[in-house]
Amino acid sequence: MITKIKGTNDILPAGLGGDIFIAEKWAALKKIIDDVVDNFNYQFIDTPIFEATELFVKGIGDVTDIVQKEMFSFTDRGDRELTLRPEGTASIVRAYIENSIAKKSNIARLAYQGPMFRAEKPQKGRYRQFHQFGVECMGGAEPNFDVEVISLFWTILQATGLKKMKLHINTVGTEASREIYRQQLREFFQDKKDKLCSDCQNRYDSNVMRILDCKNPHCNELAEGVPPIYDSLDEESTLHYAEVKSQLNNLGISFIEDPTLVRGLDYYSKTSFEIIHDQIGAQATIVGGGRYDSLIKQSGGGDVPAVGAAFGVERLLLSIDAEGIDLVTLKQPDFFLVLLDKDKESEMSKLLFDLRNRGFFALSSDGSRQVGKQLKAADKSKSKFVVFIGGDEWNEGSLAIKNLKSGEQQRLEISPEGLVDSLAQFLNRS
Ligand code: AMP
Repeated sequence: MITKIKGTNDILPAGLGGDIFIAEKWAALKKIIDDVVDNFNYQFIDTPIFEATELFVKGIGDVTDIVQKEMFSFTDRGDRELTLRPEGTASIVRAYIENSIAKKSNIARLAYQGPMFRAEKPQKGRYRQFHQFGVECMGGAEPNFDVEVISLFWTILQATGLKKMKLHINTVGTEASREIYRQQLREFFQDKKDKLCSDCQNRYDSNVMRILDCKNPHCNELAEGVPPIYDSLDEESTLHYAEVKSQLNNLGISFIEDPTLVRGLDYYSKTSFEIIHDQIGAQATIVGGGRYDSLIKQSGGGDVPAVGAAFGVERLLLSIDAEGIDLVTLKQPDFFLVLLDKDKESEMSKLLFDLRNRGFFALSSDGSRQVGKQLKAADKSKSKFVVFIGGDEWNEGSLAIKNLKSGEQQRLEISPEGLVDSLAQFLNRS
């Protein structure tokens, strides 16, 4: 048997296996997301799952873990270098520029979702194919846009019922501030350089801030006591950061300042943030994002400031499960049709079709036509009413209907409008 690739998941329907990654939870979460996206005036955009490799190398940064170690890249039949997208922002920035969105919308509020691919070592909460929901707010330089994005994610998490998430924020400043900070960090790590992991030894020269983001616990220990970025910030970065904090306070969204939060991608400037849930194991970051004021220009577009963030759907579902929240309310069938006379089979099929066609959730037994077995199936389906097809009432031009909860059976006269209308009116009255 050929099995699925390590680090990928089947998302099964409820009752057919799996407990956390089930399709109904996925759908319930999607409904919450769609509502919040609408309420915050964002619009969905869909970009291709594969793009030119160069897009990610340039956009994400060639000294990042994603680009150096984690991309699923391949050469296609036309010798083009392609990559399965590892994240959403680079593609959306490309689409923003390619479709001249800046000309059509001062502030573009875009949302996206779909599978992403990273060749990371699989473990709980970390997969090779995972799913992200994200937003990008393009065109606004002011702190209120950072807060809008943070509050959108906060709203989604709150709407799922989650309580134990924590917002961590930091600033990585403007490029000028970061240059000063990089110098400070090189001085801090100078004597410890030989003890860092080989990746961090390279990072010391290529991008020293990335050492703060290393996943190696030994490097984390060596980074203890590192000077915070705050002393290196220019006035613009300091004011922006102060305003973000003040607006978050104003909205009543509490946060933790985390001076080592630099995030694993190259394109961030000023605000960076994560939302963390500490009950889902080592991969505890649900949401990650921040401001990226130079990426659009660097990618060939105009001088457009932007801010964005994304969460991993799987990690969010793990957090929801860890707090014992049940996202799914399974839809209750309205009618279960039970066949009493074998020769009424085609009339039952017609009624089943007509009911479904009118928007009702209607079922009939898949297997045996023994009445006892059909009633058992009706019970199991937790339908509201059983409708008997055939038997005395049917032959007299009316319907026998049983309320499965109360066990009460009654006779329903069929109105001149016909069977489906009679059942619709009955359901409305019940
Ligand atoms: P990033 O694009 O790395 O900032 O990630 C944003 C969010 O995507 C993270 O906070 C996770 O929730 C999720 N994520 C990133 N990588 C993975 C992965 N390999 N498996 C599952 N979720 C992931």
